Amino acid sequence: MDSQINEIKSRIDVVEVIGGYVRLQKAGANWRANCPFHNERTPSFMVSPSRQVWRCFGSCGEGGDVFSFLMKIEGIEFVDALKILAQKAGVILKREDPKLKSERRKYCDISEMAAGFFEKNLETAAVGKEAKKYLKERGLKDETIKEFRLGWASESWDELLNFLIAKGYKAADVEKAGLAVKKQNENRWFDRFRGRIIFPIFDLHGQPIGFGGRIFKENADKEAKYLNSPQTFLYDKSKVLYGLNFAKQEIRRREKCVLVEGYMDLIMSHQDGLKHCVAVSGTALTPFQLAILKRYSDNLILAFDMDEAGQKAADRGIDLARNLGFNIRVLILPEGKDPADYALSHPCRLETEAETAKPIMDGK
Ligand SMILES: [Zn+2]
Repeated sequence: MDSQINEIKSRIDVVEVIGGYVRLQKAGANWRANCPFHNERTPSFMVSPSRQVWRCFGSCGEGGDVFSFLMKIEGIEFVDALKILAQKAGVILKREDPKLKSERRKYCDISEMAAGFFEKNLETAAVGKEAKKYLKERGLKDETIKEFRLGWASESWDELLNFLIAKGYKAADVEKAGLAVKKQNENRWFDRFRGRIIFPIFDLHGQPIGFGGRIFKENADKEAKYLNSPQTFLYDKSKVLYGLNFAKQEIRRREKCVLVEGYMDLIMSHQDGLKHCVAVSGTALTPFQLAILKRYSDNLILAFDMDEAGQKAADRGIDLARNLGFNIRVLILPEGKDPADYALSHPCRLETEAETAKPIMDGK
């Protein structure tokens, strides 16, 4: 194991890994940034390329190597950091000790298998194909559907559950992964997502950690239009930004981030070329989400729906973001359209429109 850890370390640059999370600036032979682990205005977080270590010389005083950084910033265990970094380094880990396989890894595997299962359904199941047709009518291209790994959960009560049980997982684990619901007072479970288009929600490394499900036959019944994963070991809606895994590099490169509401707005925006865009889904903008964005850029463009609910969400977001020192602009699209509809009716215009976003005045 030790030799593999050293091999990974020799192939990976701590500056590159940390640079994926914080905005590093050259400082002599080293790199410097605002510490991601405590609040500060003058950077005291240092990364040394020659020694491949990091250290905060501010109030938290944390430090370590590339493994400890990843564990701390992602809130994961060593085995999880090992897996992520091995993949990055192209090192194939020797047979995983099952005892070393973390809880987290188990739920990651379940989520990954479920995502693949839903994806296949969208291509092959009869109603799945209808769902795909609907997505294409909304303007999504085949390659976009693939990139965002959209899927279909059939109307069955236990199709996914049976698939995962056949793979060796317990129903209770599928429940803990947020994909099954237990019948009250009975030892029986059923699929949480049924008859819905599935939007996998990814972590920063592209690992599915949660799911959003949308009905697509508008009048099929009176069910909620959207259903999201509950809070699980992997997924906390207040700490996730949908699309950040796709957008993080572009946000840093363009030094700004466009915030939209919902899966379709996000996906259509990316397809239209607005790649520095992330979405809040099923929640108002939280301080956690803003703290994550702050690692990438200080400049926010809010493109929320301007109905009453959207307006309220925007107001709350603006107050929070202002307190954290963001520069905020608000984008209102022509005809009051949301980004998904606008991208469909006016292709390749979103980016230009985003530049017309107006700064927020004090007191609004
Ligand atoms: Zn610190």
